[in-house]
Amino acid sequence: MKQSQLFAKTRKEAPSDEVAKNAQLLIRAGFIHKEMAGVYSYLPLGLRVFNNIANIIREEMNTIGGQEVQLTALQEKALWEKTDRWDDEKVDNWFKTKLKNDTELGLGFTHEEPLTNIMRDHVRSHKDLPMLAYQIQTKFRNELRSKSGLMRGREFSMKDLYSFARTEEEHEALYAKARGAYVRIFERVGLSDITKIAFASGGVFSKYSEEFQTISDAGEDVIYVDEKKNIAVNQEVYTDDVLKDLGLDKGELVEYKSIETGNIFSLGTKFSEPLNLTFKDESEKDVPVIMGSYGIGVGRLMGALVEVLSDEKGIVWPEEVAPFAIHLIQIGNDDKVHAHATEMYETLTARGVEVLFDERDIRPGAKFADSDLFGIPMRAVISEKTMAEGKIETTNRKTGKTTMINEAEFLKAQHV
Ligand code: ATP
Ligand code: MG
Repeated sequence: MKQSQLFAKTRKEAPSDEVAKNAQLLIRAGFIHKEMAGVYSYLPLGLRVFNNIANIIREEMNTIGGQEVQLTALQEKALWEKTDRWDDEKVDNWFKTKLKNDTELGLGFTHEEPLTNIMRDHVRSHKDLPMLAYQIQTKFRNELRSKSGLMRGREFSMKDLYSFARTEEEHEALYAKARGAYVRIFERVGLSDITKIAFASGGVFSKYSEEFQTISDAGEDVIYVDEKKNIAVNQEVYTDDVLKDLGLDKGELVEYKSIETGNIFSLGTKFSEPLNLTFKDESEKDVPVIMGSYGIGVGRLMGALVEVLSDEKGIVWPEEVAPFAIHLIQIGNDDKVHAHATEMYETLTARGVEVLFDERDIRPGAKFADSDLFGIPMRAVISEKTMAEGKIETTNRKTGKTTMINEAEFLKAQHV
């Protein structure tokens, strides 16, 4: 894509009411637009990153046999009353609305109830299970505070996976698969080094849930980590009893602030019993289905990447999620330089390499400032000087390392 045609303009300042670093940088870089606190629109560069993250998650969900669905945001009161999750006293972050005839509706903040209800139409015998279904869908939560940019949206996109099993053992196997997929997702987005799996509160059917907690001062959570045993505990369940229960020595624990980027949960029959999702076992007996749910906030993950990887010049994207692979920059507006840089752009693009081509007639300093802000992993500069040597100047955004390299060699290394 040619930068002169880019939808969004970069800006020097973020809106004065924006306090989160991730949103400040993403707004300045023109990746997102702030509609109001906790509500952000994705612009073309931001959407490219969002889609890259969503596709990594989608691939890993498909790999474990997850089937993609897309449920509705509008939710019926009667369904949520069956599980006692309609009342604002029970769930404090509902957005509710009304039909013209005054019928109350809710905007889904999660989807255990509707998916369990749908499954009732499709699960009859033990042969219909196990099943894994997921979606990447917009959730609405009337969060009390929303000051963490993309990391705490009032409208945000979540990948939510749900597992349906016949027995506790079968559930454990699905849970392990989902957990493994999460581990791979965090590896692929480049956060595995600083993401800990922490014990957190479980609910009625299991002692603990597990959270994927990414260590960052921008986080709203606190975890305690035993680095040697590689075990972490969320502050919300941190008691002497729990420490004893897990063989943890306090003296060994290190406290960190962290971002809850993912959460995996054994639900038992919490939803299948009240909603009557059963299957007939081999002796024709009706048995409630055992469920699990597994969430990742796509925007929260994107915000977390900005929080932990950016530097004083701007964003630094890992290769797998970057909006483009190469930021090709033409320096000077000489016809020969322009023709040569354009040819390079066209050659790379024809090979399927994703290139943002800055062919604008503006000061080099402004181009480099935008480039640092955007965070594309590799910058490649073509100028009169590089052309005279038959070379191209590449800079690694993360390390800042600059190399003059033969054009032919450079091209040889660029493939998809
Ligand atoms: P938190 O404790 O941070 O409020 P939660 O425990 O309510 O989150 P879940 O209901 O488990 O979150 O949602 C699954 C995942 O969705 C979370 O792990 C997080 O990645 C993401 N998520 C939750 N709330 C938000 C939000 N307001 N904005 C963006 N992502 C969110
Ligand atoms: Mg939580």
